[in-house]
Amino acid sequence: MRSGFRTWLLWAALWVPVAMAARAASPSVTDLFAQAESIRSAEPARFSALVDALQRRKQEMEPRQREQLEYLEAYRLAFSGNYDAVIPRLKALAASAKDDDIRFRANALLVNLYTKSRRFAESLRQLGNVLPQMDRVSDPQLKVHALVEAAYLHNEIGQYGLGLQYAERILSEHSDSRARCFAEYLKYDAMMNLATMPADMAPLDDAIDHCTAGGERLLANHIRVIVARAMAAKHKRAEAIALLRTHLAEVESFRYPYLAVLVKATLAELLFERGDLKAAETYASEAIALSGAVGTSTQSLVGAYRTMYRIAERRRDTETALVYYRRFAEADKAYLNEVKARELAYQIVRQETFEKSEQIQRLGSQNQLLQLQRKLESKSVQNTRLVVVLLTMLLASIGYWAYRTKRTQMMFKRLAQTDALTGIGNRSHFSIQSERLLAQCARNEQEVALVMFDLDHFKTINDRYGHAAGDQVLVRVAELCRGLDYRNAVVGRLGGEEFALLLPGMSLAQAVEAAEDCRQRVTRIDTSGTGHRFLVTASFGVTTTALAGYQLARLFSLADRMLYRSKHDGRNQVSAYEGGYSLPERRTVPASGETARRETQEQES
Ligand code: GH3
Ligand code: MG
Ligand code: MG
Repeated sequence: MRSGFRTWLLWAALWVPVAMAARAASPSVTDLFAQAESIRSAEPARFSALVDALQRRKQEMEPRQREQLEYLEAYRLAFSGNYDAVIPRLKALAASAKDDDIRFRANALLVNLYTKSRRFAESLRQLGNVLPQMDRVSDPQLKVHALVEAAYLHNEIGQYGLGLQYAERILSEHSDSRARCFAEYLKYDAMMNLATMPADMAPLDDAIDHCTAGGERLLANHIRVIVARAMAAKHKRAEAIALLRTHLAEVESFRYPYLAVLVKATLAELLFERGDLKAAETYASEAIALSGAVGTSTQSLVGAYRTMYRIAERRRDTETALVYYRRFAEADKAYLNEVKARELAYQIVRQETFEKSEQIQRLGSQNQLLQLQRKLESKSVQNTRLVVVLLTMLLASIGYWAYRTKRTQMMFKRLAQTDALTGIGNRSHFSIQSERLLAQCARNEQEVALVMFDLDHFKTINDRYGHAAGDQVLVRVAELCRGLDYRNAVVGRLGGEEFALLLPGMSLAQAVEAAEDCRQRVTRIDTSGTGHRFLVTASFGVTTTALAGYQLARLFSLADRMLYRSKHDGRNQVSAYEGGYSLPERRTVPASGETARRETQEQES
C-alpha cells in the first residue's frame, strides 16, 4: 500500500496552508517569499520562476531570508526528483542555519527525501534529529508536519503501534481540520493494519468530513478505502463496493495513480468475493495497468495479481491462473522483501538508538566517576594544604622553640661568663679564654703579656661614698678596659676590685707601656656621676711568657706578686717581673701616709 509517489503528494499537500495570497506587481522580497511558499507544491513552474526571481534579489536579503531561499532552492530540486543532489545541500543547511524554523524544515524535508529514496534507516535517524527540535519551533504547522512525518514513516515501516501514537498526539494537540484529517487517516491506517478497527464506524465518517472540510479530498478517499475494508470484514461487501464505486470518478479525476490502483485493486477483490468475476477482472486489470507508475512492490499490485489468478482459477483456466499466480508470487515476494527491508531498517536504527542511550548512560556514570574523582582530588589537595600548613606551623614552633632555647642557653652562657655588674668576662671565663690563647701562642711561639691591677684603697671609697659609688667606679674601670685597643686582648674582672688583661704579641716593655697607659686612664676616671669627685688609682703587676712560661697559674702568680710590689712601693704604679728577682709574698700592704693623703683628696662637687 506504500509508494514514494504517495509520500510526495501527501507531504507536498501538507505545506499548502503555509500559503499566503499571491500578489502581483513589483513585489517586495517578503512578498516573493510568501508567494513562493504558497504555491510551491501546487504550481511547480510558477514556484520555480519565483525562486529564480528571489535568487536575483539575494543582495537585498537578510541572513534569515538567505537561509529561507536556500531551503526553497533545495525544495525545488527535491520536487524535480534530484534527491542525490539535494540531500547534501539540505544537510549543510540543517547544520548551518541560525533560524530554528528553517533548520527544522530542512531536517524535516530530509526525513521525507530519505523515505522517498527508500532509505528508511536514514529516514528514521533523521527523524531522530527532527523530533527533539520540535519544542524550539514557533510555527505550529511545522510541529504538525513533523508529527505527521513521524506517524507516516512508522506506518510505512510497519511500526503501526508507533504510527498510531504519533497520530494520537497530533489529535490531542491540534484541532484544525487539516491536521485532524492527516492524523485521522494515519490513525485508522495504523489501526487497520493492527486489526484494531473500532466497531463503530462513525468516527471514520467524521474523519472523511474533516478531510473534505480541509480540502484534502485525496486523503478522504484514502480513508474511504479503509472504511470499505472494515465493512467487508463485517460482511458488508455490497455497501463497501457501493462506497468505493460512488467515489471512483472522483478518484480517477485526481490523476494520482497510487490511489486509483488502491481503490481498483480493493474493488476487484471485493467484487471477486461477491462472485462478480467480470467486474473484478476489469478493476484488477486496470489496477495492474496503472501500477507501472506506482512500483512493483505495493500491496495493491499483489492484491490485483492474486485476484486475477483466483478469477482464472475459478474459471478453470489453469494456464492463465499459473501466469497470474507467478506474477502474484513475484509481486508478493518483492513486497515482502520491501516489508522486511523496512522492518530491518527500523531494527537497525532501534539498536543504534539503544546503543547510543547505553553509551550516554555509560558516559553519564563515567562522568559521575570523574566528578567524584575530581572531588576526591580537591579534597586531597585541601588535605595536603592542611598538612603543609600544620607542618609549617609545627616547624615554625619548633624553630621558635629552638630559637628561644638557644637564646636562653646563650643568655645563661653569657650570664655564666660575664660579670653581672660590669658586663666584662668573669674570672672563670677569663681563665678559659686565656688558657686557649696561651696554648695557641705557645704553638706559635708568640710572646704573651699578663697585666693585673687592683684599685687602691677601694674599701675607703666604699666607706666614704657608699657601696653604690664603689660599684659605679668598678663599671667605669670595666668600660675603660673594654675601650683599650689591643689586638686579641682578653679582659676580665678577677673578683672584687681586681682586673686583668692578657695581651698576645706583647713584649714586657710593650706590656709595661700598656699598663702605664691604663694606670693613667684610671686616674682620669670621672667620678662626678657618684655625686662626689675623688681620685681613683690602681696598682699594676706585669709579666710575660718570655720569663714566666705559658702556664696561666704561673703568670697569675708572678703578675700578682708584681702587683703586690706596686702596692708595697706606694700604689698607683706599675711593676714588671724581669726575672731573677726575689718576689715578695702577697699580703696586705698598709697605706703609706703620703698615698693615703693623696687618695683622700676629695673634690666634692
Ligand atoms: P688596697 O689598696 O691595699 O688594695 O686596699 P683596699 O681597700 O682596696 O683593699 P681591701 O682588700 O682591704 O678591700 C677591698 C674592698 O673592696 C673590700 C670590699 O668591700 C670591696 N669590694 C669588693 N667587691 C666589691 C664590689 O663589688 N662593690 C663594692 N662597692 N665594693 C667591693
Ligand atoms: Mg684594693
Ligand atoms: Mg683587692
